[in-house]
Amino acid sequence: MAKVLVVDDEPDYRSQLKSLLTAEGYQVETAEDGVRAIELARAFRPDVLVADWMLRSSRHGIQVCESLRHTLPSLVTILITGYPTEQLRADAARAAVFAFLEKPFEADELRDAVRRAADYGARPAGAVDPAARRIGHCSECGTPLPLLRPADGEMGQSWACAFCGNTYRAVLEPDGPNELRLNVRAID
Ligand SMILES: [Zn+2]
Repeated sequence: MAKVLVVDDEPDYRSQLKSLLTAEGYQVETAEDGVRAIELARAFRPDVLVADWMLRSSRHGIQVCESLRHTLPSLVTILITGYPTEQLRADAARAAVFAFLEKPFEADELRDAVRRAADYGARPAGAVDPAARRIGHCSECGTPLPLLRPADGEMGQSWACAFCGNTYRAVLEPDGPNELRLNVRAID
């Protein structure tokens, strides 16, 4: 079962998340701030990081994610936030944050996000999702963009064009009343 590191500076919240995820069978450690998280992660080696964006200490959630990725390149991060602004989404996309959990969220949303993150972290190297499709070409240089899965849009996954370095983000856009269409958007 996957190992999950929870970083949140509110003690009640932290213990709630821990008991919820422990009940799902995950091995869970918690940290009250980014410095402690980085210390803990050295020995614990989490597969999934669940971090609050707004940490009272000097490091916020995305910084924790970026620091940990140096030693744990396959770490999959879920960011908890009350206010997912456009700027925060752009920063998170650049840091390859896997998913957002918007406060307040239901227990099921957390379970679902962590399950998807753990599955994603455990995917075989080079695995191609059968749902993956090529969405388009780089608007700057015309190089075909990589295969995308609907989940990439959900996660706001971003990448740079291999040829010119233009950066793109996968988005799910409304397409009819009940449909979403996977698309790409250039990041400034
Ligand atoms: Zn290009």
